Amino acid sequence: MKTTILIVEDELPILRFMKTTLQAQSYHIVTATNAAEAETMLTSHCPDLVLLDLCLPDKDGMLIIKNLRKWSSIPVIVVSARTSEADKVKALDLGADDYITKPFGSQELLARIRTALRHAFLAFNETAVSKCFEKERNGFYINFATQEVKVNGESIHLTQNEYKLLSYLAKNSGKVLTYNVLNQYVWGPYNKNDTRTLRVNMSNIRRKIEPNPGDPMYIYTEVGIGYRMIELDN
Ligand code: CA
Repeated sequence: MKTTILIVEDELPILRFMKTTLQAQSYHIVTATNAAEAETMLTSHCPDLVLLDLCLPDKDGMLIIKNLRKWSSIPVIVVSARTSEADKVKALDLGADDYITKPFGSQELLARIRTALRHAFLAFNETAVSKCFEKERNGFYINFATQEVKVNGESIHLTQNEYKLLSYLAKNSGKVLTYNVLNQYVWGPYNKNDTRTLRVNMSNIRRKIEPNPGDPMYIYTEVGIGYRMIELDN
C-alpha cells in the first residue's frame, strides 16, 4: 500500500515541485491550497504524513496543527518561509514533528519525510509493545494486533467505529474518557459531533459485548462526563 502524503501549500510552483518530487518516489499525493480544504482532506483521506505551509490564505497553519493534534498523531512537517525560532518552537510545541525552511531541495525534503515516517512507525510499534497487544478481564478479550474482540470465547463483530471506540477505551482501561475526547478520537473535530452519535455507538457496543447491557460489567457510564472501561489485565 502506498504512503499517502497531504501537501498543504497555496504557492502553486512550490506545490507542483513537491508533488512531482514525491510522486517520482511513488508516494500517493493529495493536495490542499487553503486551511479549509486541508481540514477536509485530513478527515476524508487519512494521510500518513502532512507537509504544511504555515502562511495560508484563510487561516494560520498553526491552527491546523492544534486541531489535528486533538485526535491524530500523524507526522506533520511544517514547510514555511518563516525562519524565526519562535515560530519553529510554537509549531513544534503544538505537535509538529519537523520543520523545513524554504527554499529547500528535493533531497532535503525526501530525507525529512523518511525520518518523520520512520519515527512515526517506531512510536506506533513501541506503544504496541509496551502496552501489550492483548488484554482481558472477566471474559472480555481484545487483541489490538488482529483487532479481535471476544466475550466468553465468542467472537464479537463490530463496525469500524465501534472497534475504534472500544479499543480506545480498552487501551485506556481503568481511566475515564470524556465524551469530548472519545468524539474527537473517533470522528475528528470537524464534524460538529454531539454526543448523540457516540451514545448510539456505545449502546450498540454494549448490546454486543455486555451480558446484561442494562447493567454493564465492562464499560461504565460516568454520568455527565463520559465512559470508563474496567481495568483490563495485560
Ligand atoms: Ca503560503
